[in-house]
Amino acid sequence: MARYIYNQETCAYERYELKGTALRNRMAVLLTISFGFALAGYVTFLHYSKPLDLLEVERKNADLKTAWFHLNYRLGETEEKLKFFAEEDDQNYRVILDANPLSTIERQAGVGGATRKSKALEEHTLISNTFDRALKLNNQLTVQNESFNELQKLLDRKLKEWASRPAIQPIDNKDLLRLHTTFGMRLNPVLKVWTAHKGLDFTASTGTPIYATGDGVVQDAYYSDSFGNVVYIDHGFEFETRYAHMVRFIVSKGEKIKRGQVIGYVGNTGRSAGEHLHYEVLYKGNQINPINFFQRDLSNKEYQKLLELAKTENSSLDY
Ligand SMILES: [Zn+2]
Repeated sequence: MARYIYNQETCAYERYELKGTALRNRMAVLLTISFGFALAGYVTFLHYSKPLDLLEVERKNADLKTAWFHLNYRLGETEEKLKFFAEEDDQNYRVILDANPLSTIERQAGVGGATRKSKALEEHTLISNTFDRALKLNNQLTVQNESFNELQKLLDRKLKEWASRPAIQPIDNKDLLRLHTTFGMRLNPVLKVWTAHKGLDFTASTGTPIYATGDGVVQDAYYSDSFGNVVYIDHGFEFETRYAHMVRFIVSKGEKIKRGQVIGYVGNTGRSAGEHLHYEVLYKGNQINPINFFQRDLSNKEYQKLLELAKTENSSLDY
């Protein structure tokens, strides 16, 4: 809206317009007021609001905290699983395999040693603690892994030992009628003198299959004047077995043998008073009673019956 002012000289209203210095002064005042308002607004904004990059940092911090809690939860789960494995290891596997449980010191091996933590990491206690926890878990897992490797080797050896040890009867004897003479002093059927009978005699018709009683290697298979056709098997772990008076054997020296494998057939060769199998078990070079090694193919009841039958005082069938 235009402004008019009364001119006393011309006695008329004339249009008023700012010019020159007055105009510059007015403009300066307006600019100063505008700048003042702008500055006050900016200061207020700084005081009551946060910059965008700070909001971004706070959001990332919250995400990291969530991830940190999640990480610790997972660490806790893994620690529990490891604890379960360690207990199974000590209380079951090592007991079965006759191995000592690992000591606490062995299980903590390496924990607390030098760690390569950056200075920045050390300054953050929470993260530093989690770092230590993960490191400890890693060390314990390494120990557990080594323990399982050791147990695997022990198990492999035990499985071989169990497979090798004489553990069945050398001929089919389901009705338990085959055992004729047992271990100990027996009357010689021909010489009529008492001698130590160092094995068991099983009566069976010629041609009845004879089985290896454990895994092993044929130590010898030949004809001897006393034993006739005889097979010697070395089972390792200081066990040997001998099978005598065969009509024939079907294995040769050096051959690998599995438990239950047919190695020959019952006969009456050598110094034998009738068709039968003379069977011996040796441990550390000495004959021991084979009747203690039949547990695999007999029930407890059958085994008790066999022990009763073993008490009969029959004379031996070899001389
Ligand atoms: Zn005999």
